[in-house]
Amino acid sequence: MNQSHPHTPQPSFYDYEQILSQEGIRVTAVRLLVLKTIYNTISGAFSLQDVVSQLGTADPSSVFRALTLFSQKGLLHLIDDGSGVQKYCVCHCPDHHHHSGHIHFTCTLCHKTFCLTEVPIPSVPIPQGFDIEESEYIIKGLCPSCSKKTHSTDSSPEVI
Ligand SMILES: [Zn+2]
Ligand SMILES: [Zn+2]
Ligand SMILES: [Zn+2]
Repeated sequence: MNQSHPHTPQPSFYDYEQILSQEGIRVTAVRLLVLKTIYNTISGAFSLQDVVSQLGTADPSSVFRALTLFSQKGLLHLIDDGSGVQKYCVCHCPDHHHHSGHIHFTCTLCHKTFCLTEVPIPSVPIPQGFDIEESEYIIKGLCPSCSKKTHSTDSSPEVI
């Protein structure tokens, strides 16, 4: 990864200790480290493995515990993109009840999951008696770069 090439706008500044204490999470070194990584280094959806490989030396099980705690407290959205691996993304909902979640796009080729934060989950008419807590909306297909790749192979010169 080339860190010195900022192609996505970075959030200017977060007070990580405040984010944790606002949610009633006790501040520890590992939790701070994990929080910084998922807010700053990783864009879009990520797995435990993504965080562990960013952190290098961190103990995977304590990273996992931090991620679990963050999602219980509503700091993270849990995403089941069908890959069999639990994915997470940072919650930017106005409150942490995820009532205004966003659509996720999973690429069937590179298996990356993207947060389409500009695309809100449409409200669906559900039968009476059912009580929605969270909704998840996954679209599958090809991401822009994979889509480009497949198109460039399509246009390879044909032998007639
Ligand atoms: Zn949320
Ligand atoms: Zn892709
Ligand atoms: Zn997301």
